[in-house]
Amino acid sequence: MSNLGSNLINGQWLNNGQSFTSINPSDTTDCIGTFHAASKEDSLLAIKSARDAFNEWSASSLEERKKILDYIGDELINCSTEIGELIAREEGKPLAEGIGEVYRSGQFFQYFGAEVLRQMGELATSTRPNINVEVTREPLGVIGVITPWNFPIAVAAWKIAPALAFGNCVVLKPSEIVPASAIAFADILHRSGLPKGVFNCIQGPGSIAGETLSESKDIDAISFTGSVKTGNLIAQKAIKNMTRIQLEMGSKNALVILNDADIDIAVQCAINGAFFGTGQKCTASSRLIVEAGIHDEFVEKMITATQTLIVGNALDKTTQIGPVVDSRQFEQNKKYIASAQKAGAKMIAGDESITVSHNGFYMRPTLFTETNNQMEINREEVFGPIACVIKADSYEEALAISNDSDFGLTSGIITQSLKQASHFKRHSESGCVMVNLPTAGTDYHVPFGGRKSSSYGPREQGSYAKEFYTIVKTTYISS
Ligand code: NAD
Repeated sequence: MSNLGSNLINGQWLNNGQSFTSINPSDTTDCIGTFHAASKEDSLLAIKSARDAFNEWSASSLEERKKILDYIGDELINCSTEIGELIAREEGKPLAEGIGEVYRSGQFFQYFGAEVLRQMGELATSTRPNINVEVTREPLGVIGVITPWNFPIAVAAWKIAPALAFGNCVVLKPSEIVPASAIAFADILHRSGLPKGVFNCIQGPGSIAGETLSESKDIDAISFTGSVKTGNLIAQKAIKNMTRIQLEMGSKNALVILNDADIDIAVQCAINGAFFGTGQKCTASSRLIVEAGIHDEFVEKMITATQTLIVGNALDKTTQIGPVVDSRQFEQNKKYIASAQKAGAKMIAGDESITVSHNGFYMRPTLFTETNNQMEINREEVFGPIACVIKADSYEEALAISNDSDFGLTSGIITQSLKQASHFKRHSESGCVMVNLPTAGTDYHVPFGGRKSSSYGPREQGSYAKEFYTIVKTTYISS
């Protein structure tokens, strides 16, 4: 992949700029490659190329756009095994999840390929005689897309597919932790027949390419997914230019388990939501809020289920939990474990003396009991395979604890009571609610996003995506 070049600007692969490497977190002796960070000048050139391409692309025929989006979607699906392996190697996601991510990314493009043909306006009758009113949508212009490492292709796909479908040009700044996966994705867009400059990809640390996008007056909108800290920085810079922003950030999702829950469903959902993807999902359920009557049985079953999870090399087909993404995240997880223990939490599964083993950042899924919602571990996003059980005396208390968070992306409830499920659905302060399902795992044709510090701006995905990627025009016509 690296022979394509690291940065795609105006239809050309460029390989100048400061070099950096990407390392396999399952085996740190495996270097995926050396890549080149886009300089500020490269980043400005990418923005200019997108701007120059905008007139032609925004006027392109719907059939041309649809054909290109369909091609990208089909190609992602055709290459899902090959690129899925690359994601597993570069990011540490188990192979099946890596392949699934690329396949899903193809579905995003196929969905928005169809949305291209559903661009309808509205007609209104004016309050004044002999005047007609038209409400139509237009593309915004140049969209800066800044993405995280944990879904290196899917997040880029769910932003870029609607951006292109509605006639915008794009500059993508992927995470510096997954440059090879970004190149594999960019290569498909490069080969898709998009006119040069419509899609550009600039790599490297956020402090150069990312900041250049956030500060540029030539960017019309920024769609960002990543941490709250970075989201805040981007927002402050973008707002100075009145740049439209959409921020999808971290969370501290709660799974509420009530006394009447089917215990096997509860354990399955907790294991899946808390530990799959090594807990490195914005939708991970790191707080397991369990009603007192089922608490002990749930904890006992969770210990067994957690201890039997197979942790290993992401490329090994038997692996259920891959490594943590890098040494920084690994050290951060250890600090959170120490902080929970200091605060009085009891580790009932996991490994207190974690070390880097087999040259990878492996960590056993870690479960704490005897925690409360005020502990640092239950307030901050950890982004690792660590979950805490919080005991609640009633449904009302469980709901209150679940809502007592700065975040609000997803939440879940396990219960057989329609009454309590319905109450939770209405009163949970999160963007997505799951009933008898894990907090992670969403569809691609419906809106996705959160509340509070988890999200800012209009929803992503499905038909709701047009709110961000288009601008409304109201035209008055006198006859
Ligand atoms: P991050 O904030 O460190 O980085 C995200 C992106 O921002 C990267 O491309 C990075 O290079 C760039 N960046 C960093 N500093 C920047 C700056 N000053 N200006 C502009 N860009 C800058 O996040 P991460 O560690 O890559 O990803 C993990 C985070 O992403 C978690 O908090 C997770 O919850 C969140 N996430 C959220 C969703 C969602 O949809 N809500 C989905 C996936 C991940």
